[in-house]
Amino acid sequence: MPILRVALNIPIDTLFDYVAPEATQSDIGLRVCVPFGRRKLTGIIMEVRTETDVPAEKLKTIFGISREIPPLSNDLLTLFSFCSDYYHHPLGMVAINGLPVKLRNNKPVILKTDRDGLRYVLTESGRQVNASTIPKRNKVMHQLLGKLNEDELLSAQEVRKISSHAVNVLKEWVLKGWVEEKRLERPPKILGAVELRSWPELTLEQSVAVEAITAQFDQFHTWLLQGVTGSGKTEVYLRLIEKVLATGKQTLVLIPEINLTPQLEAVFHARFVSTSIVSLHSGLNDTERLRGWLEAQQGEARIILGTRLAVFTPLPDLGLVIVDEEHDTSFKQQDGLRYSARDLAVFRAKQAHIPVVLGSATPSLESYHNALTGRYRHLRLSQRAFKNAALPQVECVDMRAEKPLNGLSAKLIRAIKDCLMQQKQCLIFINRRGYAPVLMCQSCGWTAVCQRCSSRLVVHLMEKKLSCHHCGHRESFPFACPQCGDQDIKPFGRGTQRIEETFAELFPAARIMRIDRDSVSRKNAWQDILRAIHRNEVDILIGTQLLAKGHDFPNLSLVGILDSDVSLFSTDFRAGERLLAQLMQVSGRAGRAEIAGRVLIQTAYPDHLIYQAIRQHDYDVLAQHILSERKIAGFPPYVYQVLLRAEAHSLKSVIDFLSAAYKQAQSIVASDKSIEIFDPVPAAMTRLKGMERAHLLVQSGARKSLQLFLMHWRKQLNALSSHKVRWVLDVDPIEF
Ligand code: ADP
Ligand code: ZN
Ligand code: ZN
Repeated sequence: MPILRVALNIPIDTLFDYVAPEATQSDIGLRVCVPFGRRKLTGIIMEVRTETDVPAEKLKTIFGISREIPPLSNDLLTLFSFCSDYYHHPLGMVAINGLPVKLRNNKPVILKTDRDGLRYVLTESGRQVNASTIPKRNKVMHQLLGKLNEDELLSAQEVRKISSHAVNVLKEWVLKGWVEEKRLERPPKILGAVELRSWPELTLEQSVAVEAITAQFDQFHTWLLQGVTGSGKTEVYLRLIEKVLATGKQTLVLIPEINLTPQLEAVFHARFVSTSIVSLHSGLNDTERLRGWLEAQQGEARIILGTRLAVFTPLPDLGLVIVDEEHDTSFKQQDGLRYSARDLAVFRAKQAHIPVVLGSATPSLESYHNALTGRYRHLRLSQRAFKNAALPQVECVDMRAEKPLNGLSAKLIRAIKDCLMQQKQCLIFINRRGYAPVLMCQSCGWTAVCQRCSSRLVVHLMEKKLSCHHCGHRESFPFACPQCGDQDIKPFGRGTQRIEETFAELFPAARIMRIDRDSVSRKNAWQDILRAIHRNEVDILIGTQLLAKGHDFPNLSLVGILDSDVSLFSTDFRAGERLLAQLMQVSGRAGRAEIAGRVLIQTAYPDHLIYQAIRQHDYDVLAQHILSERKIAGFPPYVYQVLLRAEAHSLKSVIDFLSAAYKQAQSIVASDKSIEIFDPVPAAMTRLKGMERAHLLVQSGARKSLQLFLMHWRKQLNALSSHKVRWVLDVDPIEF
């Protein structure tokens, strides 16, 4: 009898064996429904064998294999295995979570082949329909309404699947005005993406880059494309993709921000008019995501554009991988399976013997180091591509010599006035949303803190609320200080809302727009914002880092940077690298086209190396300086790290657990000097969402020995586990 080895989505580090009378080797990679305890689970067939160690009386038989979609390819299964081994996360959990939600259960999937593109959606009045007004016995109606509510766009085929009667109900609802027909269209063209009939002539640096990479298209190499903001990295990607398309292969493009997808998608559509492009990100509903995934698996989609989760897409003809803004921390998942999509992208390229291009104006120091040591190939774009466009002029405003008005220097205010007079746009960058970061009592010094986290509550004046930016907790303003009863409690410091208020007073005629997580939470908010900016309906933009990434604002001439000094003295060893990247990115928004750009940084430390580097647009000098410091201190990229993170309701349980883990680690390492184990310490943010958190760091100069050590340690940790403490291994951590 054939035995299946199945990966299941449960936190146990093993595959599970089942009997499957009719299974063959070609079933590897298919989904299978199996009994597990009293439950029915869906897993993935990893192996088909003839033998098992499980005693015959314990061996169970599968319920059935799903064959409606082709099996996952060997490459994808290998990727899952690698990911499970490297990040020390159970294979079944890696595999199942790598699939679209609709494939994680055993409900049959229908392949959408209807090409007419007609879909059914609820109208406004359809959405108002209260399900309880439909008689209970009318199951078909309930199902149909449920589906319409959940799926948004339903095809005729999907309706027929509910029952043939559902089709009649649907017709009735169309007549009633509850449902309307919609024709699927290509995503709307986004403003700002110019349709180019002729391709621009490449700059010399661009063509050197394109030629270098295409000359070695049939080999695995990691290319670091380091190009200053506005140097035309996208144009290089486009040329490479064009060549890949010509050879009949697929391209995977990873980008950090879901907000950037529509823009880039529009650029790609404009260039590759008849090419099927699929975008995959967390903003899609489950059906849309499944559809994109299937199109990629069947080779129909030629360009796959997505955020980090797209790295798990099946790509049978993969020819090129691009990771744009490769330094961005959002490529690293921060919960569950803590993978780095950038690193997995490199793995995929290696697996497929193809090039991978990592692009950035401010590469991560890991990638930069790899380029310096020759592991990656280094390509540079040092000039802006657009004719006559120069990098902006960057100045520091010495705040020690200023008497700021609500935090704004006279120099910055004057510059904004000039900018408004010339009818250009300006952007004020402050990486803190809300009105003020602290609410404080004048007489006793009390500050409002979150009960569930070790953090202060941020003042949101417009909503008259205090809000925790870590757990989402909100509460009303106190009338008086809860500690001393004094009514003189005031917001201190400033965030985007306060700056907005100040500007409204200073420049009553200016059109001001605030862009932070609070203002873009609405669906389509980004589209509206970008449109307004491109149509010059905004004069002053106030924004957090959301604005700093990759967007192209042709009429922007001034950037003002506020309160960036706070990051200069962080305890996080990556803070300097991040601030440098952030400020270079945000400065890069100024003066993109024919407009000269100017950047003003308000600081009390104008001589700081970071600000010097930004003034001179010299990423390399500071990157090399930070690298040399890290080398001496023994920090990544000179060592490889793993963090054992643990949390529990009491800090004592966490520390007890970590101390036991520490002893285990020491006995495994014994005399091996290449591995360093640090004492358990509380996390920078000790309490989060009511849990106490601490961690233990292990590092080594050799990745192999660290991995070997982890293999042993993980087994012992599994044995040590108690229900009180939740723990996870974070390989290559970027947050502490
Ligand atoms: P980056 O991603 O490197 O910051 P972009 O790809 O956004 O830069 O390009 C910046 C601007 O330069 C865009 O408006 C783009 O259309 C333009 N551009 C790129 N390459 C060329 C070129 N070879 N000739 C003229 N304009 C170009
Ligand atoms: Zn008080
Ligand atoms: Zn909180």
